[in-house]
Amino acid sequence: MDTTRFRQLPAVHKLLESDVVTLWCKSHARTDVVRALQEALRQARAALREGDEPESWDSSAILRVAHEVLTGQSLLHLRAVVNATGIVLHTNLGRAPLALEAVAAVQASALGYSNLELDLETGRRGERYDHVERAICALTGAEAALVVNNNAAAVFLILRELANGLPVAISRGELIEIGGSFRVSEIMRESGAQLVEVGTTNKTHERDYEQALQAGVSLILRVHASNFKMLGFTSKPPLEALVARAHAHDVPVYEDLGSGSLFNLKKAGIGDEPTVRESVEAGVDIVSFSGDKLLGATQAGIICGKKRYVDRLKKNQLLRALRVDKLTLAALEATLWLYRDEEIARTRIPTLQMMTRTVEDLQSDAESLASALRASLAAQGAHADVRVTRVESQVGGGALPSEDLPSYGVALRVAGVPEQMLLERLRAQSPPIIARIMKEEVIFDVRTIFAWQRDDLVRGITNTCAG
Ligand SMILES: *Cc1c(COP(=O)(O)O)cnc(C)c1O
Repeated sequence: MDTTRFRQLPAVHKLLESDVVTLWCKSHARTDVVRALQEALRQARAALREGDEPESWDSSAILRVAHEVLTGQSLLHLRAVVNATGIVLHTNLGRAPLALEAVAAVQASALGYSNLELDLETGRRGERYDHVERAICALTGAEAALVVNNNAAAVFLILRELANGLPVAISRGELIEIGGSFRVSEIMRESGAQLVEVGTTNKTHERDYEQALQAGVSLILRVHASNFKMLGFTSKPPLEALVARAHAHDVPVYEDLGSGSLFNLKKAGIGDEPTVRESVEAGVDIVSFSGDKLLGATQAGIICGKKRYVDRLKKNQLLRALRVDKLTLAALEATLWLYRDEEIARTRIPTLQMMTRTVEDLQSDAESLASALRASLAAQGAHADVRVTRVESQVGGGALPSEDLPSYGVALRVAGVPEQMLLERLRAQSPPIIARIMKEEVIFDVRTIFAWQRDDLVRGITNTCAG
């Protein structure tokens, strides 16, 4: 064994003197840092014994491995990945990434204790929902609000409390199934409500609802079609008209908005997604929507509307089983706070920021990724075709199904390596890289790639092509 190959490896005490390791020592115990460096060196020696070139195990490579060991990234099963699919709200990739402000709020409430259920003024017991209720009301115009585990839970709770086993009217065109086999018809059945279908698949008129109201339904349910769109000969009554009919019979209207936008995307030229405020202003009694779709916060089901109905939901025993924890509330409150100013929301909330990026910005981003990649491949002596290409990104999460966002990406082709194998190798990188295939090329859509992931991405793709 040629031990001179090992001699080029840096010593632990040398690594400890470097600036970056000094920084680590501020947030980690020194013994842990030393152990991580030793582990990285052990892996380097093993790799050299296997025939790796000493050049591929310089100080920066060792520090990278040490940092992964230190932060436990390579040991955890749930890992951060690079989303190069261009799908902004990808349920399999954890839907919405959080704003830095939300992450900071989560960290602050997670590290120690919080006033989760304590009224700091009176010193008495408080309500966990108080932390977000006022903000939701201010942003939507609703009288009262409540938050549960997710929107599916919200639908269940609302049907359970407001329909309570009685008939509920819903248009045939809204009996949808969304991802994860969530079916409106099934959840209604589970809640005990009796399903009363009105109208037809493509057309439902006011008079169809009127018939149901006269036959005595307890609630009218409107459901956002989410990941499906009807085109052509279709119609449904405007919300205002539906609400007026229902209220004439003293029957409340509940709208499941699905994504539930607080931000007016129409004004930004993207799609025709209704805002929550529009529903509230149309007189809808109860609205529910997800926290981690267009809103851009964490998994949650947000319920808002008339106080007399929200109060009933707050008293339902089921709420205890559907309640959210402090981390959810911290992330949600901090994200809602950003919505107080449209421009702050658009630039600070990652989902909105990604959706509203300009094509010029995306193109220059793709060009700089391509040139960084070419340089890295050349440095490693790896061969691949890299080109910048126009692509279409999707919003995902059941929002704006027919709205493709023009974007730019980098297309990759490696002679002799099938695309499926490239995808597989990309997923084996650290962090794993998730891309897609289009016309026999692997596509990296830059819309959903964060600037701080750029170096990891280039390194990961280069490894993939070299290996
Ligand atoms: C996404 C969606 C749901 C489920 O929301 P989760 O927050 O994922 O539970 C319910 N209804 C509609 C219309 C949806 O689009």
